Amino acid sequence: MPTYKAPLRDVRFLLKGVFDASSHYCESGFPDATPDVIDAVLTHGAEFADEVLAPLNQKGDEHGAKWRDGVVTTAPGFKDAWRKYREGEWGSIGANPEYGGQGLPESLELAVNDMSCGACVAFRGASSLTLGAVHAIEAHASDKLKQVYLPRLISAEWAGTMCLTEPHAGSDVGLITTSAKPAEDGSFLLTGTKIFITFGDHDLTDNIIHLVLGRLPGAVKGPQGISLFLVPKFLLDDADNATGELNGVVCSSIEAKMGIKASPTCVLNFEEARGFLVGHEHGGLAAMFTMMNYARLDVGQQGLSQGERALQGASAYALERRQMRAAGGVRSPEREADLIIEHADVRRMLLTMKSLVEGSRALAIFAAIQLDKRHHPDEEARHRADQMLAFLTPIVKGFLTEVGSEAANLGIQVWGGAGYICESGMEQYARDARIMPIYEGTNGIQANDLLRRKVIGSKGALLRVFLEEVETLVRELEGSSELGYQAKALAELKDEWAALSSDIARRSVSNADEAAGVAFDYLMYSGYVAVAYCWARMSKAALANLGRLPSDDLFLRTKLQTARFYFERILPRTRSLVVTLKAPSETLMVVAAEAFSL
Ligand SMILES: Cc1cc2nc3c(=O)[nH]c(=O)nc-3n(C[C@H](O)[C@H](O)[C@H](O)COP(=O)(O)OP(=O)(O)OC[C@H]3O[C@@H](n4cnc5c(N)ncnc54)[C@H](O)[C@@H]3O)c2cc1C
Repeated sequence: MPTYKAPLRDVRFLLKGVFDASSHYCESGFPDATPDVIDAVLTHGAEFADEVLAPLNQKGDEHGAKWRDGVVTTAPGFKDAWRKYREGEWGSIGANPEYGGQGLPESLELAVNDMSCGACVAFRGASSLTLGAVHAIEAHASDKLKQVYLPRLISAEWAGTMCLTEPHAGSDVGLITTSAKPAEDGSFLLTGTKIFITFGDHDLTDNIIHLVLGRLPGAVKGPQGISLFLVPKFLLDDADNATGELNGVVCSSIEAKMGIKASPTCVLNFEEARGFLVGHEHGGLAAMFTMMNYARLDVGQQGLSQGERALQGASAYALERRQMRAAGGVRSPEREADLIIEHADVRRMLLTMKSLVEGSRALAIFAAIQLDKRHHPDEEARHRADQMLAFLTPIVKGFLTEVGSEAANLGIQVWGGAGYICESGMEQYARDARIMPIYEGTNGIQANDLLRRKVIGSKGALLRVFLEEVETLVRELEGSSELGYQAKALAELKDEWAALSSDIARRSVSNADEAAGVAFDYLMYSGYVAVAYCWARMSKAALANLGRLPSDDLFLRTKLQTARFYFERILPRTRSLVVTLKAPSETLMVVAAEAFSL
């Protein structure tokens, strides 16, 4: 089984070399995030990932979470790891100091999360949803709820969940029927069934705080009639807020599933469970979006992290497995066969994985940096960061989970037959990665969000914010003898992207299927170009630092070579996407629905 090593060097390169994090943190209102602090957080974060979380990954998959008589027990080692997570204050990095958080930038938190996700993505489910709940409560709940619940969620004494999905209401949350009846004391009694709730029950913490979407009496049908409630597993005593009696939340089963087996996926029955309104009556969906937007960035990172694990496993194997002779000539004459890394086709797979994974990581961190900028003293900078984040969130969630899955599958291929055998550990990454394009809003939903809501809905304004960044970079690189080729490609793509978007918007005025039918291809096109922008930024930083420290040279030279591979062999995927983006929706819709039952 391949050992996992947190990609600390890559993360450091991005924060320090590419995005100049310490200046950015200073400007964005985080004076405490000094270079020393950044380095300490990343170094210890990598140790935590390698030493505490990584050993859980395969064992957790083999053992899984267990349900018995309404109670979920996590896989061996998970409880102890959560204790260490809590003691190490890993849940409080970016949280508000008013509630016990460390007040550090969220991009630093997400950089640490990237390393943790790669170590054990099933564990990440609990911590990620807890942080998402923190964001939603802080943004929308009453002061009283914030004072009581935030410190104990931020300290990881308790964990949080996100309860949207019901048997008949998945992508369409407007269909939910869970009811919330007002009680005399101002609280609400919730009744209904939620399915697929990640870490809906477990033994990691003494209490679990569910954020639940429900409907008040008389609420209108659809998304406008939904409200958000905080429902604790155990109610608190009024006098001292100590954990008191069990609330009416019953975990009636957990799902047997393809991957992330150590993450319990629960059916939760709310039986007149007492809850407290978060935000306004009927304003639940907007409040829940605070949590979902955070979770979407997190799931994007989960996707890339499985690609990272697969890349590490595939690289190690390709450097030890010998089969046949390299087409270009014998490489190891003293041995009967060459290493498989000498075969051009194995190189194709490894570099595809490497260029997608490292490019994805850069895009995830670039998006996370926009989170920090929302604290910038300048209003215009804050507004621009909000726009950028709105635009990038569906790309990070959708594209990174698609290419993360691709990389995880390629990892199996590099191992050949052994990759298909459980013992290798490689097939687990592909199984674990497979959920990521589905949950937190399927990638079909992300694609529609990007194209129809964000791009067409803003009349291109959100796209323009990103294209302006591309334009600035093109101007910086266009005179460069080494990187001029990247500037040329990006300049052409920038114009093409804008023209394609206008064309789709125009076509969809008379027929919305024109946009819906190309939305996924548009998401992928956007992802390839956004990652090309990130590779150009990485190339610029690599070139600037090359030759400074001999110990960095191989790393930096490899960045430049991988960038060239990306531009020459991955970015051309946009050529076929351009063709499909121009194709009318007719071929999709003309086949009669009944024809699929023939
Ligand atoms: C392991 C796991 C963990 C989960 N964790 C949670 C959790 O913690 N909390 C929670 O609330 N939920 C959770 N979910 C639920 C998850 O978010 C949903 O499964 C997901 O949102 C899709 O909903 P659905 O499964 O009902 O699919 P459906 O909504 O039925 O979708 C089926 C297909 O139709 C497509 N589709 C639907 N509507 C449209 C549209 N308008 N345009 C284009 N395509 C469309 C979808 O893209 C998909 O391909 C989890 C699910 C799993 C499997």
